[in-house]
Amino acid sequence: MQVILAEPRGFCAGVDRAIAIVEQALERFGKPVYVRHEIVHNRHVVEGLHRRGAIFVEHPAEVPEGAVLVFSAHGVSPAVVAAAGARNLQVIDATCPLVTKVHKQTRRFARQDNEIVMVGHAGHVEVEGTMGQAPERTHLVETPEDVERLEVADAERLACVTQTTLSVDDTHDVLSALQRRFPAIHLPKRDDICYATQNRQDAVKQLAEGTDLVLVVGSLASSNSNRLVEVAVKCGVTAHLVQDASEIEPGWLKGVQRIAVSAGASTPEELIQKVLERLGEFAPGIEIERPPAVDEGMVFPLPPPLR
Ligand code: SF4
Repeated sequence: MQVILAEPRGFCAGVDRAIAIVEQALERFGKPVYVRHEIVHNRHVVEGLHRRGAIFVEHPAEVPEGAVLVFSAHGVSPAVVAAAGARNLQVIDATCPLVTKVHKQTRRFARQDNEIVMVGHAGHVEVEGTMGQAPERTHLVETPEDVERLEVADAERLACVTQTTLSVDDTHDVLSALQRRFPAIHLPKRDDICYATQNRQDAVKQLAEGTDLVLVVGSLASSNSNRLVEVAVKCGVTAHLVQDASEIEPGWLKGVQRIAVSAGASTPEELIQKVLERLGEFAPGIEIERPPAVDEGMVFPLPPPLR
């Protein structure tokens, strides 16, 4: 049996930065440091930071007055910022700069008197944060069928933004449907899907050919991990999302010659290595192919309070 690791895989620059922000906040301000929502969608990361003194909450109302509150990498709406302000919290913003860019774009479209169509997944925390930038003007669509049902006040004043962690191919279909139905819509030159999502999907697509099984290491709540599974399945390969090595079922490996292993942008490398160890236990003598690391060329500086 042969295992090939996808490259790039795992942590992106936004996740690296968000975790570093919580670690440095703990060092600088002492514990506890409060974090609004899971800092990134990975249980192991969250539990590790919790052990070091981070307390995870869903709303600023749960945080004592004057305490330190870190916003997660997914971003927040102005309503959450205002709620934190009302409690005099010392806010450190770990929103990924690529999400902040979408927030700014959404506010700019709203100021220019547009209605905004957001392409994204209902209930995802990033979508709540982006839609919250202009809540009365933003519509959410997930599929081309949603586009057909969409009702807008003025089809001549429409603009579009997307969640950063969508499937590149599915988003293309939704954007095409929007353009067909609303020819005057202002579509961004390219969607807002981030470099990390795009690169990890490309790598899985490339590996899926000639592979019998794709394993994606990532949390159930991780949008880009789920999308990696979908990308592999669309390529005609069996694929499973595993949160860690313990979730691999030996039955999946029956008759399998070649396995590709990838991981979402919030998955620590340590979990990927444990998956490889586990595969080695199931198939002693397994051959692991490790392509050279890809430098994605992206590093985000820490926010001013921690610089
Ligand atoms: S997946 Fe993309 S948008 Fe999300 S934190 Fe990483 S770089 Fe930022």
